[in-house]
Amino acid sequence: MDLKSVIRTIPDYPKKGIMFRDITTLLTDARGFRRAVDELVQPLAGQKIDKVAGIEARGFILGGAIAHQLSVGFVPIRKKGKLPYKTIAESYELEYGVDEVEIHVDAVEKGDRILLVDDLIATGGTAGAAIKLLERAGGEVMLCSFVVDLPDLGGADKLRALGKKVTALVEYE
Ligand code: 5GP
Repeated sequence: MDLKSVIRTIPDYPKKGIMFRDITTLLTDARGFRRAVDELVQPLAGQKIDKVAGIEARGFILGGAIAHQLSVGFVPIRKKGKLPYKTIAESYELEYGVDEVEIHVDAVEKGDRILLVDDLIATGGTAGAAIKLLERAGGEVMLCSFVVDLPDLGGADKLRALGKKVTALVEYE
């Protein structure tokens, strides 16, 4: 089964000129969802990890399923202002302006080996901030897994240049 066949492309969303890769169609396809979860963890090949961290919002769905499969805990990485307890934050640049991601101060224990998950990597701004945040909290990001990579935007290479292992299941120009 070709995962691309269950990923839908929406032209001009959220604004003109953007081809949005919609993975909700992969999630509703039982075989596609299972296959994606299995492949996202494959590069770990027997390595032990302590936690899965997923980036809001689609990273929660994939990351939650992976955490269950690996029998480890899950850390939600949220956009600013959504978490109820004390947080640590990391900001990153958007095309226009900045944004922030946060985790709870006690979400990661020192030495935790973490699998970071999101649906898509483009510029790598979001995932880069997530890595900094998890590592400031004392964790070590062992693998960054994405369903989709847009390699022309350079995000995956940026993370590899930081010494991170990156996997993506499909690529689009
Ligand atoms: P980056 O920070 O790497 O530039 O952008 C990645 C973030 O934006 C991810 O959290 C991802 O969910 C979201 N994103 C950007 N473009 C798309 C897209 O075409 N499809 C989906 N599903 N998410 C996108």
